[in-house]
Amino acid sequence: MDANDVLTAAGLDPSNLQEGDLQVTSPIDGQVIARMQQHRRAEAEVAVARAAAAFETWRAVPAPRRGELVRLLGEELRTAKDPLGRLVTLECGKSFQEGLGEVQEMIDICDFAVGLSRQLYGLTIASERPGHAMSERWHPIGVCGVITAFNFPVAPWAWNAALAIVCGDPVVWKPSEKTPLTALATKAIFDRAVSRFGGDAPEGLLEVLVGGRDVGEALTDDPRVPVVSATGSTRMGAQVGPRVAARFGRSILELGGNNAMIVTASADLDLAVRAILFAAVGTAGQRCTTLRRLIVHEDVRQELVQRLKAAYEQVRIGDPMVETNLVGPLIDRDAFDSMQKALQTAKAEGATVHGGERVLADEAPWAFYVRPAIAEMPSQTGIVREETFAPILYVMGYREWDEAIAIHNDVPQGLSSCVFTRDLGEAERFVSALGSDCGIANVNIGPSGAEIGGAFGGEKHTGGGRESGSDAWKGYMRRQTVTVNYSGALPLAQGIKFEL
Ligand code: NAD
Repeated sequence: MDANDVLTAAGLDPSNLQEGDLQVTSPIDGQVIARMQQHRRAEAEVAVARAAAAFETWRAVPAPRRGELVRLLGEELRTAKDPLGRLVTLECGKSFQEGLGEVQEMIDICDFAVGLSRQLYGLTIASERPGHAMSERWHPIGVCGVITAFNFPVAPWAWNAALAIVCGDPVVWKPSEKTPLTALATKAIFDRAVSRFGGDAPEGLLEVLVGGRDVGEALTDDPRVPVVSATGSTRMGAQVGPRVAARFGRSILELGGNNAMIVTASADLDLAVRAILFAAVGTAGQRCTTLRRLIVHEDVRQELVQRLKAAYEQVRIGDPMVETNLVGPLIDRDAFDSMQKALQTAKAEGATVHGGERVLADEAPWAFYVRPAIAEMPSQTGIVREETFAPILYVMGYREWDEAIAIHNDVPQGLSSCVFTRDLGEAERFVSALGSDCGIANVNIGPSGAEIGGAFGGEKHTGGGRESGSDAWKGYMRRQTVTVNYSGALPLAQGIKFEL
């Protein structure tokens, strides 16, 4: 299947994608697969105006009816799973299995959101005043801006949009400038759901803005966008967070991770090796939840590193459309350069590095395939504390549990984490208040591959946002405390007397 066939199968017309100031390349071979015009700031503002107008009618549609639109979206995604998954692979280079998995996550969150549309529960609260009823209600808040990253081009949109739509909020989506095609294909799928839904879905319920930082700023700066959910680097979050806060907007920040695994002396090493492999080399190390740090008990360190080196040797690297290849390309030359720079720094800081070199340069001279690297470190040096968005696994040793936890938590990021152990005490300590400081903490499971039922996100420089399951929906609504006096008298709270 060539690139045009993939675009066509995903519902896009390649002949309409030939001109414009944005070139989209496939990391598989580095070739241009489409050109399109980026939106200008003024056009972005018009799109926000359409979404703001849509809010006026959408918030009055009953939530279970809003859920029906998301149910239809889930149906359309099921039909489009294969072509959209292939387009994800073409545009961002993850393996086709992972492309399909990403679309499955979209379907799963739609199912979750449909149920949620009948469960946007408030509270009844005991009032201290006689003849008074207190309650807490949740109302739609307004337009939700969604900014997404290249490495998960569609699933994080769905985590936000499926919830926002059932909560009564229109969505304006600015995908990564590296992956706009998957967003356009998803918009076409959404439009099919809308046309089946019927008349009460207003125009402007989903707007897609193509472009980079400038277009993103049209969302962060606009007071008509009360919630901005932004997925990407910590550098981006440090720009977006203060801008949204300056106008008293709410931001949901899903930023970089520096995820670790503690492997204790009692760990099942067979299980650990398999988990490490998927988590450290999958998506060529370009997941926010990629395993980047391995903190291993000295008793098993040498054996584990030997087994990992042997497993890494067997990993097939190449075209991610070919199902037997487990590791595809890095997104672009910049990603390759920053990986090489990080490995040089690691060596200068005392690392022994295995792998990390470029491969397949003859077959794909414009693409950047690398052998995943293992870097044995003398300690948690400066480079280990940074997120390098590439497949580098830093390995460090420990002797005492407290030392392992101290190393684990001594990084700026706080997204995902895990421990491999057969000792129940260690497992419980890891997930206790004295254990991992991350938003996600797993036992005998790697740090990546979260299910949509839980709230997804992390602490510290990961931004503090939560999306997807649990009560993350509250981020897309405004809370109202309601007190109704049916007593005929006017008692004041706290027993205050205020009478003439
Ligand atoms: P990036 O920060 O370069 O870009 C992300 C998005 O932000 C893009 O759409 C970009 O155009 C936009 N953007 C950048 N600066 C902006 C600004 N000042 N105002 C408004 N928009 C702006 O990230 P990337 O390279 O696409 O993705 C990789 C990063 O994303 C990694 O750090 C990874 O850990 C992180 N990530 C986090 C999660 C999560 O859920 N925590 C998920 C996926 C990726």
